[in-house]
Amino acid sequence: MLEIKHVSKSFFGFLALDDVSMRVEKGSFHALVGPNGAGKTTLFNVVVGRYPPDGGEVRLEERRTSGLATYRVVRMGLGISFQRSQAFLSMSVLENVMLAVLAHQGRSRALMRSFSAESEAKTTAYELIGWVGLADKTETPTAALPLGDLKRVDIAMALAGKPKLLLLDEPLAGLSRSERVSMVNFIEGLLRGLGITLLFTEHDTDAVLRLADRITVLHQGRVLAEGGPDEIKNDARVIEAFLGEEYAEG
Ligand code: ADP
Ligand code: MG
Repeated sequence: MLEIKHVSKSFFGFLALDDVSMRVEKGSFHALVGPNGAGKTTLFNVVVGRYPPDGGEVRLEERRTSGLATYRVVRMGLGISFQRSQAFLSMSVLENVMLAVLAHQGRSRALMRSFSAESEAKTTAYELIGWVGLADKTETPTAALPLGDLKRVDIAMALAGKPKLLLLDEPLAGLSRSERVSMVNFIEGLLRGLGITLLFTEHDTDAVLRLADRITVLHQGRVLAEGGPDEIKNDARVIEAFLGEEYAEG
């Protein structure tokens, strides 16, 4: 689904990504983990076209995405939900999701005002809102939502483009323990059901081990290890770099 080949990226001489290569298999949930500053968000920004890489390339289903503008990468089938919400806080859940649907339909301004386009977008928006479990909050201004619900709005907005691959940057950050559990169940249930390929970063190791089929560990801009959850949690280099002893099995 996604192939990252020899990607490098530096900021003012600081090498944030150093020859990173990894593949995300179609239908898998793939976690990108590593300590703060490892380069996870930078790699996401390269994948979504926010930063051009200094070297290497990224391909989504064989088609090169690196160097393209974000909106074009999104049109090729990439959905993104980053840590900071993209929702307009003064607008309701329904309005935000409708806007995302209309934006992905690529409607012109004139067409947006047309009744049929709007009612079609509304129907799609209601469906997406139902998927993310916010059907009873359609009219709520997003500013009034708890963080866990706000993240669901962002995911609904990302799904409006019918992505093949969804990127989630720290979907559990800032959530309470109980919100975390419900978010993990939600991601698992919804995205597996939709058959979406997921690439995500997360600091919550329990959640990573529970969700991921495959884990890539970044450390100081380099790939330190890659494997299934059992391999990774017993990998001596990974334990030393950031996991700690508690996750190793004996
Ligand atoms: P992570 O998401 O793994 O915590 P980041 O990708 O955010 O790490 O950051 C990796 C390194 O690159 C950090 O040292 C960070 O300070 C640096 N960095 C990231 N983005 C920029 C930027 N736009 N300008 C300068 N340095 C940056
Ligand atoms: Mg980050």
